[in-house]
Amino acid sequence: MVGVSVLGISGSVGSSTVKVLRQFRDQFSLRSFSVHSNWEVAKILISEFSPEVVCVTDPKLVGKFGDKFGSTNILYGDHALIDLVKLPSVDVVVTAVVGARGVLPTIAAIEAGKKIAIANKETLVTFGPLINRLVAKHKTLMVPVDSEHNALFQLIERETRSNIRAITLTASGGSFRTLPIEELEHVSVKQALNHPTWSMGPKITVDSAGLINKGLEVIEAHFLFGFSYDEIEVVIHPQSLTHGIIETRDGACLQYTSHPDMVYPIAHSLFYPNPTPQMLIERKPSTWKTLEFFPPDTNRYPGLTLAYQAGKAGGVAPCIFNAANEEAVALFLEEKISFTTIPRLIESALNQVKNEFPETLEGYLEKDKETRNLIQSEFLKGGVTT
Ligand code: NDP
Ligand code: MG
Repeated sequence: MVGVSVLGISGSVGSSTVKVLRQFRDQFSLRSFSVHSNWEVAKILISEFSPEVVCVTDPKLVGKFGDKFGSTNILYGDHALIDLVKLPSVDVVVTAVVGARGVLPTIAAIEAGKKIAIANKETLVTFGPLINRLVAKHKTLMVPVDSEHNALFQLIERETRSNIRAITLTASGGSFRTLPIEELEHVSVKQALNHPTWSMGPKITVDSAGLINKGLEVIEAHFLFGFSYDEIEVVIHPQSLTHGIIETRDGACLQYTSHPDMVYPIAHSLFYPNPTPQMLIERKPSTWKTLEFFPPDTNRYPGLTLAYQAGKAGGVAPCIFNAANEEAVALFLEEKISFTTIPRLIESALNQVKNEFPETLEGYLEKDKETRNLIQSEFLKGGVTT
């Protein structure tokens, strides 16, 4: 039995992980998990899986559900995520919380020698150099859950590295791929959350609508696979069937294609390095009538250009990009700023917060905080927010 911990089990990736755990009950045992506030989901999963420990992270709920539910211990607060991942019975940690707050439990899991199935891309984007140093030091097995990166991981390991010329991430184009650009200024939150092909949490769905999710993923791919930014390409692929492509020096393009369902990459990351057994959902290439690919329109998606700029600048620039985006998307979801203000705020932060190359976690956390404060004060001033 492989012991599993899921951080953020009540979210979109968390729910897909539960589907996989249900299908392979004889091979995986859910030992711990967290929710932020969704106690209803927590109760159902505690009754079903009897984990050792569950954590509720929302500070407003501390102590509310007691310290035991059946035989399961209930812990509270962000810090308890570290206790969840360090349990001796846990072998693999699925990081499915949203935002850069995933960093401390991820570091704890690496230091405790666990395998990491990483969905929480903001952690890798923000703290990439630091996480990579720790992964190398502890010889951590880190498998990407993000569908494009999981696809690329599988393709890259089948090819001789020196024969790979470039890697390509596909993007659906998000909710506004065909909307006239001048209308983007006035789109509603409801429209932004209406993703054409994937069902995901609200933050990543808004990120996808402006291709900022793809920008984060370009940086994520750089840190995961070590390709330079000039070797990482993005194509719009509205069908979301092909997730990653590698281009070899001999001129071939090898692509990974599957139904857009997170159960595939999650199952792969849980079973790896063993092969995934037969899944519930069948792959039927005969139903995939069209596979279209075209380059992204940089006027429609300025956030993607900013992500490349931040990635190439290095240092804390990706951290600034991510923190500004997290704050801006939260403001958009609260209907306080327009959709097109999101990239404007990111650009403003990249221009104003000084880039540095810190050695420590604290150095990154300071820049993360400085950026978030800047976005809040820009918003209050109303400068770039209209
Ligand atoms: P969701 O918003 O659906 O879920 C987020 C999870 O994190 C929930 O369990 C939520 O708990 C918890 N959470 C929310 N706020 C906090 C907080 N302040 N502290 C701790 N936990 C918190 O997100 P997704 O599942 O869509 O995304 C999770 C991560 O995976 C993101 O980094 C995303 O970029 C990445 N990802 C997602 C994909 C997808 O298909 N959804 C695909 C690839 C990557 P509660 O429910 O109680 O609020
Ligand atoms: Mg993705």
